[in-house]
Amino acid sequence: MLAVYLATSEVENDRRAINVKQGMYKARKERRWMRRAPFGYINTLSPEGEKCIIPKEPEATWIRKTFELVAEGSLSISQIHKLTQSWGFTCSSSSFYKLLHHPVYCGKIVVPAFEQKKAYLTKGKHQGIVSVVLFEEVQKLLQNRAPKRRSSRPHDSLPLRGFIYCPLCQKRLTGSSSKGRFGKLYFYYHCRTPCRYRIRADHLNKYLIEALESLSPGEVYKSVLGDMMEELHLDIQRKMNLEHAQISKSMENLIGRGIKAHDLYLKGEIDAEDYMLIKSDCEKSTKALGAELRSLIRREVTTKKQARKVIRWLSHLDKLYQKLDFSSRQQLLSLLFKGKAVLETSGFAHATNRTTRLIFRLELSDKELKKTQQAKDEELENPYFKKIWQAEKRKGHILSLEQLSKCIAFLKNFYRLASN
Ligand SMILES: [Zn+2]
Repeated sequence: MLAVYLATSEVENDRRAINVKQGMYKARKERRWMRRAPFGYINTLSPEGEKCIIPKEPEATWIRKTFELVAEGSLSISQIHKLTQSWGFTCSSSSFYKLLHHPVYCGKIVVPAFEQKKAYLTKGKHQGIVSVVLFEEVQKLLQNRAPKRRSSRPHDSLPLRGFIYCPLCQKRLTGSSSKGRFGKLYFYYHCRTPCRYRIRADHLNKYLIEALESLSPGEVYKSVLGDMMEELHLDIQRKMNLEHAQISKSMENLIGRGIKAHDLYLKGEIDAEDYMLIKSDCEKSTKALGAELRSLIRREVTTKKQARKVIRWLSHLDKLYQKLDFSSRQQLLSLLFKGKAVLETSGFAHATNRTTRLIFRLELSDKELKKTQQAKDEELENPYFKKIWQAEKRKGHILSLEQLSKCIAFLKNFYRLASN
């Protein structure tokens, strides 16, 4: 008896979840607004007794006036926002922007994605506050305005902006573009007044690529990176095996549930419609789990390939750099450079930090080589530390624990960056 009860209650839950989801979707598909009315509307019932929304005054008029002002184009959005506040229309500037983008105001409704169907926009049963033409006009204007609001956005042509310091006065260099004689845009890094230092961005970027190309890591660092990836891979493998087992278990459960529902249906405890709903839900979930399993296997193959790539990239930083997106480029530079990288005519070597110089076998100054708190062989339990320490010792450098952990942190960060 208990078993039957458990089976039915599980089936009940299934049925309820499906019904709610379907109900919401159905309402949206019938073009009715189901949730709390958005600003400018109130919830009510239609003459047919269906839930719906209707415009509410004076808010509806405020909204109409707002759209008209934006379309007119003589005031900025924030000026219009301020103006509307004087009418008593109070909302934050972010909700104000959202309101200007909301299709509900031109009488449309978003039908959300459901099962295999994609989300789409449709004409709602409610009355729009502004015309579709006015709404679309405003959308176009907002789109054109958007880039202006982000004038300080990092520009792809200026990856070193904010990163390097002026060789004359040591202030942080900024960057901007100027138009050449034939309308071509040129980008420059430059200092701030009164200093007049400036350098063409494409030239500097070229030097940077050359400098990265010349960096070649010591053998031991490549080898430790390889060990680290191996360990990481084993860890991923363990997790994947676990995931694999979980997916298989869920699949078994689903099949069991299908059988139980079939049983109940045969005994007449649930009707045909419910049984079909549960059956199709089970089939769908099984399909989804199958897809998950396949993607898991694909992921495994990619991690292996990735490991080989990451090690290769440590010897080809220029190629990695060119492949990365803007923010990853900056991350790579901050990994390689000192906190304050002063630009020097002799290139970028001076700008690199001590760990970079160690890993890429650049010359270390006497100060950097100063023998302080050297680690002792017997202190080194971490196999990575030991491997690096011994290799450097053969070259006559005795590293401290701090230096060793910085090298490991570098390699870990490098891995994260390069495997993205
Ligand atoms: Zn300067």
